[in-house]
Amino acid sequence: MEYHDQLGLSRERFAELAEGFHDDSYAGRDYRRLPDYRKGIEKGTVLVAGTVVRGFPKIPRCLVLDSGIPQHFDGEIAVEEKLDGYNVRVARIDGDVFAFTRSGIVCPFTTHKARSLLPVDRFFEQYPDRMLCGEMIGPENPYTTADCYDVDSIAFHAFDIQDRKSGESLPVEERRAACEALGIPQVDLFGIYKPSEAVESTPEIIDDLDSRGREGIVMKTVDGGQQLKYTTSAANQGDLAFAFGLPFDYGRDFSFRRLIREGFQSVEFGDTEAERRERAHGLGESLLVPMADAIETVEEGERLGERHTVRAEPRVVDALLDHFREQSLSIDIERDRRVEGQRVLTFSKQIQRSTDKIDTYLDGTIVTE
Ligand code: ATP
Repeated sequence: MEYHDQLGLSRERFAELAEGFHDDSYAGRDYRRLPDYRKGIEKGTVLVAGTVVRGFPKIPRCLVLDSGIPQHFDGEIAVEEKLDGYNVRVARIDGDVFAFTRSGIVCPFTTHKARSLLPVDRFFEQYPDRMLCGEMIGPENPYTTADCYDVDSIAFHAFDIQDRKSGESLPVEERRAACEALGIPQVDLFGIYKPSEAVESTPEIIDDLDSRGREGIVMKTVDGGQQLKYTTSAANQGDLAFAFGLPFDYGRDFSFRRLIREGFQSVEFGDTEAERRERAHGLGESLLVPMADAIETVEEGERLGERHTVRAEPRVVDALLDHFREQSLSIDIERDRRVEGQRVLTFSKQIQRSTDKIDTYLDGTIVTE
């Protein structure tokens, strides 16, 4: 079957989209990937060896649970935890297992971790044409920084088993039973509810997650076909703190959207005056403290960066560094040690724009606004 047939697109539409695909390769295998959103096709869709690996769909969000849930769902929904890590699709192509990140890149580090953490042979024996979708979480990973889980290094938690070409999901209960039987860790399930019951239960679930610094929930029709997400204040403020630590690299929309979420949550959750002040205080801190830290860092002559630690066999860490080099990322190595045969590397991805902008303002650049 040709690519356009597999994607369910006309030959003409596929030809229009073709220029949006980037050429890439991994371990001698060429592939093409779509790094951003296009109409009718998911970001991260990959074309490799005559087959399609469908991108993970964008999940819509509601700002108000009470009206958003019944608006989006008619029937029963499963409410699962939304984990804060990075999205990974694990697929087998011509006998080789690969892990694809959100934008369709085969990451050597994640591929190695997926192969070693998961029973991939047994999974693909049972589901040769499907992919295992989940979140990589934990403090030792090259992409994200959330550290609110009981994970020492890195762990994969499944939240979907999709057809590799069509993206069609296994029903939630079937997927959960399959993961359980195969010993694949998975996201927590809070329950299966009618929409009206979910409206009742989700605020409490969110409050509990918030108190543990967790990210939020994803609600899904039990057939897995439709999803809706909602996040905690801890996640909204955590994102803002991250963005304001690199104040000129994250778009204004990124911050504005998170501020608006807090406004709607404060009203829907019926914040008392004291709670609203506390939320306002938290919001202010998440903006000002990391921003002032960033300015002081640059004032002291240092560069801003995103710090990560990874732990793996030395050849896997080498492959990750090569991979970053191919992507033209600038990396500062901060600490490099061996622990029980593993290389434990702490590095910082340089963030140039914020460093340069802060530097010019510190030098007295005049702003006309
Ligand atoms: P994206 O472009 O990746 O959708 P976004 O910032 O709009 O980015 P997020 O807020 O990160 O989206 O939420 C969507 C992501 O949540 C999914 O891509 C997936 O990686 C992650 N996720 C974590 N837990 C779950 C879960 N239980 N079910 C589905 N997705 C989950």
